[in-house]
Amino acid sequence: DHLVNQIAAGEVVERPASALKELLENSIDAGSRSLQIELQAGGTKLIKVIDDGCGIAKDDLELALHRHATSKIASMDDLAQVATLGFRGEGLASIASVSRLSLTSRFSDNGQLSPHAWRVDADHGRMLDPEPAALAAGTTIEVHDLYHQVPARKKFLKSDSTEYAHCAAMIERLALANPNVSVTVIHNGKAQQRWLAGDLAKRAAAIIGDDFVNSGIAVDEGFGTLRLHGITGSPTLGKTNREAQFFFVNGRFVRDKVVMHALREAYRDVLHHNLHASFCLFLDMDPEGVDVNVHPTKIEVRFRESQAIYRFLITSLSKALAKTKA
Ligand code: ADP
Ligand code: MG
Repeated sequence: DHLVNQIAAGEVVERPASALKELLENSIDAGSRSLQIELQAGGTKLIKVIDDGCGIAKDDLELALHRHATSKIASMDDLAQVATLGFRGEGLASIASVSRLSLTSRFSDNGQLSPHAWRVDADHGRMLDPEPAALAAGTTIEVHDLYHQVPARKKFLKSDSTEYAHCAAMIERLALANPNVSVTVIHNGKAQQRWLAGDLAKRAAAIIGDDFVNSGIAVDEGFGTLRLHGITGSPTLGKTNREAQFFFVNGRFVRDKVVMHALREAYRDVLHHNLHASFCLFLDMDPEGVDVNVHPTKIEVRFRESQAIYRFLITSLSKALAKTKA
């Protein structure tokens, strides 16, 4: 079972950034309003996340580190209806099997705090019994030495600065998708980011740039159960920044051909411009219409009715862009 976990871990946890993603998604799912992220050596030495979410009850602590113990998928039919970010119930188990992990959490039930926190330590999947611990609220997770004892995975890790860059990109996506959550980032003891809670415009200004938000075009269009909202860049801004292209489906960052094609078409048709603009757009839709489970570490999606999505995106963007010409 131990080896099975370590092998499977490579599927879910490709590198520090993917472990960090699992941790941060859990924190978001737990209703956190504040995330403190601390990394050492690009996350290879330490990934620490302090959140202020609902916490984990003592009896669920050990379960949380067990594969599939918490899977929210009871049947394949449920797969389509998953609304939270986590649903495979294997994120923590995978990370725990290839690191030294410590999980401290103080459960809060409808605002009613438990008397104290509990802490459970795991060393490459071997778990110790939970012990009482001190913590004001929420959950603190420390992942030490990811892959240090798994040479087959360790050799795929790049330099610390490359791994940190992957982490930083991951954090930006999560921060844009959750502007109401404050986020701080420390790397090797140095403060890197401090984003206070606010609205999307404020968060996008901090991450993508003031000029993007000031000259950008607000988008908010709906059709049936589909809604597209966010900010799309003015092409006249003239700044080509391919990195600042963010698209989220039901809160998840994705990179998708259908989406990119639709955006390109809209910019070309309305503004006779190639898509060189930055954008930060959110497509909200019925979870049944999209399969986000293509692969745990991938950022692909599969739309059930991609033609309908394609047409909706073009129509919505064209409408928004046309306003700028008036
Ligand atoms: P999944 O997110 O797919 O359910 P994980 O292995 O990532 O599986 O997490 C297992 C469970 O542990 C979660 O379902 C959740 O109940 C709990 N959990 C993990 N992290 C947190 C957290 N930061 N705050 C509250 N609960 C958490
Ligand atoms: Mg999870």
